[in-house]
Amino acid sequence: MSSEAKKVMTSPETPETGITEGGTEGAFRDVLSKDHARRGKPPVHFVDMSEDERIAKAKELGLPKFRVKQLANHYYGHFDVNAAAFTDFPASKRDEAASVFFPELITEVTRQVADKGTTIKTLWRLFDGSHIESVLMRYPTRSTLCISSQVGCGMGCPFCATGQLGLTRNMSAGEILEQVRVAARMMQDGEVAGGPGRLSNIVFMGMGEPMGNYRSVLSAVRQISALPPQGFGISARNITVSTVGVVPGIRKLTEEGIPVRLAVSLHAPSDELRDELVPMNKRFNTTAVLDAAHDYWLATKRRVSIEYALMRGINDQAEHARLLAKRLNHYGDDWAHVNPIPLNPIEGSKWTASKPEDEKRFLDILHAAGITATLRDTRGQDIDGACGQLAAKER
Ligand code: SF4
Repeated sequence: MSSEAKKVMTSPETPETGITEGGTEGAFRDVLSKDHARRGKPPVHFVDMSEDERIAKAKELGLPKFRVKQLANHYYGHFDVNAAAFTDFPASKRDEAASVFFPELITEVTRQVADKGTTIKTLWRLFDGSHIESVLMRYPTRSTLCISSQVGCGMGCPFCATGQLGLTRNMSAGEILEQVRVAARMMQDGEVAGGPGRLSNIVFMGMGEPMGNYRSVLSAVRQISALPPQGFGISARNITVSTVGVVPGIRKLTEEGIPVRLAVSLHAPSDELRDELVPMNKRFNTTAVLDAAHDYWLATKRRVSIEYALMRGINDQAEHARLLAKRLNHYGDDWAHVNPIPLNPIEGSKWTASKPEDEKRFLDILHAAGITATLRDTRGQDIDGACGQLAAKER
């Protein structure tokens, strides 16, 4: 590539395409939505600013430095953005500080409740009219929020509702973190069946490919895991970052040294089949993906989750389970955990869920080969809330 071409591709005016700089050429191309366009940037939020930027902004408002710490306590410690709650603030400055530091980035459009009030899926509208979704799931010992990191997704997996949309744009750290703050507040206020509780786990498995929006996702991960008043204090070990196999992203994450869990959506044990199910495989094939995933395990000693959506007659047969076991065992024991997920079929699609007997056989073969595997819970199936189904349809 000429240096001029390179400059164009990496210029700040070039939208991040969802993979890596220069990801618009080669065997794989992002699928862009028809809305894909520069739509301007979301308003800058407290969590998008560095400490120095916060202090400078406070100064503009005539506020001394220690007020920034008070705001951080309100946001991360109490999940508050409401000026009325800032009772430690001069009354004359509350409204202004709230509107400058905490602009409303996500607005609730609809909320669907399932599983006796323990699963809540929220459709959000962003500043530019885009829609995203998040799903809060309460279990007896934990509460997990599945969040979105991009509007749509550019990876084009044909069985996935989000993939059908294409990529509209990356979300800002503020837009990502606001999903977390609101859910933490809902838990605190007892809005989820079971009474007041604490948000304990975050999974980046909603709309989008997190590695395609690496900078904002990493900033969000740091602010989710830091202790208040620097973050929400949810342990990094309880955060899962998923990827369809964007190898440079996995490598970068490995170097960060943050003990988040890595989840790789493999969905097929061979390149031949994966090329069809996950177009990104043409850029980073199964060997490259598994090598990077195993290196992640070596560096962090966190077991890697291998996500595998079971599709009837396509990737759910005995031969697929045997090959998957062989490929994982090639790297050694106990470094990966397979999560076969019964596919939630999308309307009008040829991809359907496996038969229960095929699911069972798939698991049995993995177990017999010494692989840890559990059929993943598909909470929220009745509200299209399971992974791969977050298509942000306004109903
Ligand atoms: S399965 Fe994941 S990576 Fe593939 S299109 Fe859907 S959201 Fe994107």
